[in-house]
Amino acid sequence: MDCIFCNIVSGKIPARKIHETQRSLAFLDAFPLTKGHSLVIPKTHYMKIQEMTDVDNADLFESVRVISVRMERISPSSLDCNRHKSAKICCHIQESWYSKT
Ligand SMILES: [Zn+2]
Repeated sequence: MDCIFCNIVSGKIPARKIHETQRSLAFLDAFPLTKGHSLVIPKTHYMKIQEMTDVDNADLFESVRVISVRMERISPSSLDCNRHKSAKICCHIQESWYSKT
């Protein structure tokens, strides 16, 4: 399977990483909707969030929390993920953020 997120995780496609654990990776979007638009993905490819292991799920959402804290420090009004649907499920589960300004 040719998945852009798996290629980012493996390093075949470069990314501007902002946070990384053994199980998840956060990076700035290559085509940001606005300043700070970033994505957090599990390093394992999952088609659906329901397929994630408890360990990967816990790690992913801990990374989401860490990035949220950092983003809020930079721009308190920049977090849109808490109020509107911002999580996307596609060929590789991802969480994304973007500034409203
Ligand atoms: Zn993938």
